[in-house]
This record gives sequence, structure tokens and C-alpha cells, in this order.
Amino acid sequence: MTAVFIISAPSGSGKSTLVNNVRKLIPDLEFSVSYTTRAPRGNEQNGREYFFISRPEFEARIAKNEFLEYADVFGNYYGTARRFLQQAEEHGHDLLLDIDVQGAAQIKSKIPEAVSIFILPPNRQQLEQRLRDRGLDTEEVIQRRLLNASREIENYCKYDYILVNDRLDESTENLKSILIAERLKRSGQRVADDSVRRRAESCRLDNVRERLKPILASFASTAVPRAETNEAVSDETPAIAQTRSDNEVEVVIEA
Ligand code: ADP
Ligand code: 5GP
Repeated sequence: MTAVFIISAPSGSGKSTLVNNVRKLIPDLEFSVSYTTRAPRGNEQNGREYFFISRPEFEARIAKNEFLEYADVFGNYYGTARRFLQQAEEHGHDLLLDIDVQGAAQIKSKIPEAVSIFILPPNRQQLEQRLRDRGLDTEEVIQRRLLNASREIENYCKYDYILVNDRLDESTENLKSILIAERLKRSGQRVADDSVRRRAESCRLDNVRERLKPILASFASTAVPRAETNEAVSDETPAIAQTRSDNEVEVVIEA
């Protein structure tokens, strides 16, 4: 049976880097390319990072029930097409979804056995440093991403596994171990490799609570109460954001 892996993280935590690493290391793992109404960034290509479509086209696809889940994230629609799950099932492969916390909640309610993984940076300071070093965002966008990160992080406890992305090689090994251990469990096999089992177990929510305390504390001091900020803030430039009909995060759950 196809295992569905959900990965969420605040922007800049290293999610794309880790996902790209494990995709090269784990066979028979398909990646769902989401649909979005946001504009392409940098050298993103249609069909590779995302399928970039207009709002009316997205809404037409919602009406046709094409999405397994979709959400309004920072003023743009993002959605997972049902066909990616169907394809993975036909191929006998597993499926990896890179989606936000709203999408993760929707998938978990439809597919309770889906495995969810939340990636965290070692602390706020390092997240800020990574966002700067990545060199993709203006100072204003970096500050907005940090603000949004403080809120997204509050959802960590809804996930099965928490991966603190400190050293990249270690985190890649841990993510790989989680995927392999869960895959074996599903096929009724024992996880014979002790280091795989230990690494996966070390990332279970219940086993990381102590380690998370200083990380959460580093974000708590900068979090702004929701009422003051009207929920999450768009990552886009204000000029673009103002043209959106809705800047708030909206949870859309399909029947
Ligand atoms: P995300 O997809 O979560 O937004 P990226 O994968 O783009 O994040 O990573 C953000 C930046 O941090 C990139 O420049 C990446 O090379 C760097 N990075 C990722 N993981 C680590 C790590 N463990 N240590 C240091 N830098 C990292
Ligand atoms: P970005 O625009 O930076 O690529 O992504 C913004 C956020 O949207 C990230 O948290 C990413 O995980 C999330 N996202 C990407 N695709 C989907 C999707 O299909 N569904 C949902 N719910 N979120 C998505």
C-alpha cells in the first residue's frame, strides 16, 4: 500500500534541500508537484517546482474535485492534485507531499495513516541567517517570513515526527531513516538496521519534546499575538499582496 509522507516547515528551515537529498537516496518515492496561483520565483519552472495556474483555473479545478487538499496560503491557492496519489498507487510507489500545516491537517483527516514530519531550524537566529544566506528575499520579506515562522511552529505538536535541521548530513540521514522505517513497518517487516530504527525513533514527537524547548523559546520572544497581525502575512511584496482578495490564511476542507 502506498505510504503518504507529509513534510511541512517554516520557510528557510531547509525543507527543499532535505527533500531533494532524500529523493535521490530513496527509490520508488514519488513527489507531488502542487498547483499554485502564485507567480514563479527565480528560475522555477512550470511542472517542476509547481504547476503555475491562474485563480479562475484553480477554482475551476476545485469545482471539478481535482484536489486531494488545497488551501489559501498567504493569499495564494496551493493544492495537491488527486492524480499524484492515484499514479503512485498504480506504480506501487510511496508519495511525498511538501505542503503547509493546513494541507497537512486535511490529508491527515482523509488519510489518517499518512506520516507527517515537521522540520524545524535549530533556532530563530539560524533561520534568519539561512534566509539571508539564501539570498532570495528582501529584508522586509525576511522579517515577514520570520513572523510567519513563529506562528507555523506552534503547530509542531500535530506532527508524528520532528526533525531539527541542524547539521545537514545528519538531518538527511534522519529523514531517510524515518521514511525507510515507516515503509518497512507498513509492509509488516521488522526494521533490522538498528541505526535506522534509532534515528527514526529519536525524531518521534514524544522523544524530542525536551530538545524543542529552547528552539520554541527562541521564537516565542518574537511572536506577535494573532489579533494584532490578522493571521499570517503574505510573503509577497505589499503591492502584489494588495491585489489579492484575501490575505488571511483560510482553511478549506473538502468533503
Ligand atoms: P526551505 O525549502 O525550507 O525554504 P531551503 O532548503 O531553501 O529552505 O534552505 C534555506 C537555506 O538554508 C538554503 O540556502 C540552504 O542551502 C540552507 N540550508 C539548508 N539546510 C541547512 C543546514 N542544515 N545547515 C545550514 N544551511 C542549511
Ligand atoms: P512557497 O510559495 O514558498 O513555495 O510555499 C509556500 C507554502 O505553501 C509552503 O509552506 C509550502 O509547503 C506550501 N505548499 C506548497 N504546495 C502546497 C500544496 O499543494 N498544498 C498546501 N496546502 N500547501 C502547499
